Amino acid sequence: MATMIGWSDSHLEMRAAVRQFVEREIVPLREELEHGNLPPYDVLRKYVRTFGIDEMNRDRYEHERAGGARVSNEDRFERAVMTLMPMIEICKHSPGMVTAMGVSMNLAGNAIKKGTPEQAERWALPLLTLEKVGAWAITEPDSGSDAFGGMRSTAVRDGDEFVLNGSKTFITNGPYADTTVFICKLDDGVTPSRERKVLSFILDRGMPGFEQSAPLRKMGMHSSPTGQLFVTDVRVGMDRLIGGEKALDGGDAKQTGGDKGGARDAARATFASERASMAAQALGIIEQCLSVAVDYARNRIQFGKPIGEFQLIQNKLAGMEVARMNVENMLFRYLETMREGKSLSFAEASAMKLYSARAATEVALDAVQVLGGNGYMAEYHVEQLARDAKVLQIYAGTDELQITAIAKDLLRR
Ligand SMILES: Cc1cc2nc3c(=O)[nH]c(=O)nc-3n(C[C@H](O)[C@H](O)[C@H](O)COP(=O)(O)OP(=O)(O)OC[C@H]3O[C@@H](n4cnc5c(N)ncnc54)[C@H](O)[C@@H]3O)c2cc1C
Repeated sequence: MATMIGWSDSHLEMRAAVRQFVEREIVPLREELEHGNLPPYDVLRKYVRTFGIDEMNRDRYEHERAGGARVSNEDRFERAVMTLMPMIEICKHSPGMVTAMGVSMNLAGNAIKKGTPEQAERWALPLLTLEKVGAWAITEPDSGSDAFGGMRSTAVRDGDEFVLNGSKTFITNGPYADTTVFICKLDDGVTPSRERKVLSFILDRGMPGFEQSAPLRKMGMHSSPTGQLFVTDVRVGMDRLIGGEKALDGGDAKQTGGDKGGARDAARATFASERASMAAQALGIIEQCLSVAVDYARNRIQFGKPIGEFQLIQNKLAGMEVARMNVENMLFRYLETMREGKSLSFAEASAMKLYSARAATEVALDAVQVLGGNGYMAEYHVEQLARDAKVLQIYAGTDELQITAIAKDLLRR
């Protein structure tokens, strides 16, 4: 098998189709999505239906449920391309839409899919097909990077039920979610907070005691609504604990180094795949900014010549191209590991996320600079992409946390 150095013809055909969809369906709505109050879900549903992503996910779900044969590495690879390629294209115009879709289908949908068969059928399947909108809530006002350590949200057992309390913030899709994964700690009144078992519960919109805020105002990613969640004495049965009774097994959290195989591990695995997909978002932003900047540098005349002839502008364009190649190659490497039935290590995924996020922010800001005053205005959308790119350095683990993860891994070897 040849090592991947570019997209295949069939990938390029798919890219052309996605581009056409984005131009027809997303670009005309961009003003309302980015500066109005239009939630992204209807156009996202149109997207998943147009490209059969809902059916693909349903088939995959049914195949897994029926205990079908393990998918081949080649299929895993093709599915990964089908997921990542559209992310790149949509991110050229509205990266927030990818965040909203990814959190609903991948984070929330997959987290619930790992639960009991009943939970998967009732709550995960409608998220995997985007019939319903999902949120995945771990961050709290006092626990962000130290998500598990500082977590204050609790579940207290009361007979066959649990009583949930806590508040979450910065939650993607929080304001509109039909289904929310609420991550909290089992409070048995004895175990110290840092050692408590982490559990995930499924909440429905409108449950008594569960409040979803209006969207928060923020710097960018306006097409991805972000909100707060307030959970006050919400009573739930075992049917809403992801994994059911099994999630409570595992004995003393201290001796087992936390609840191995439990919500902590599931949340960590979620972080790893989320980090890997971040490169696709970054690549879309970089490709678009580079294309706009090159075009502008060719046509903008100052001092009697195109600004592209000034070395200081050329330096920026060349830097953007280097970043584009690096991020694309990292993405290809990720896809190649899939094709070989392997996966990136946690440190490699972190390195890819760190580099891609920084590169997207730098490239987008350089594009603003190349365009001068026009870059700062909204018309060319590079200012929007610069605001959008910045969050790649913050969510799914900040730059500082990625650096720490990589260094720890290097020092452990
Ligand atoms: C648009 C958006 C969408 C989001 N969506 C979701 C979502 O859907 N679900 C969800 O649960 N969360 C979500 N988040 C939350 C996001 O994951 C957190 O913001 C992120 O993990 C950082 O946490 P924090 O904001 O509390 O910052 P903090 O952890 O308070 O960090 C503040 C600063 O201190 C640094 N820092 C912290 N610890 C260390 C350390 N050990 N070493 C060095 N530096 C350190 C950080 O890197 C950062 O620079 C979202 C955030 C945003 C902005």
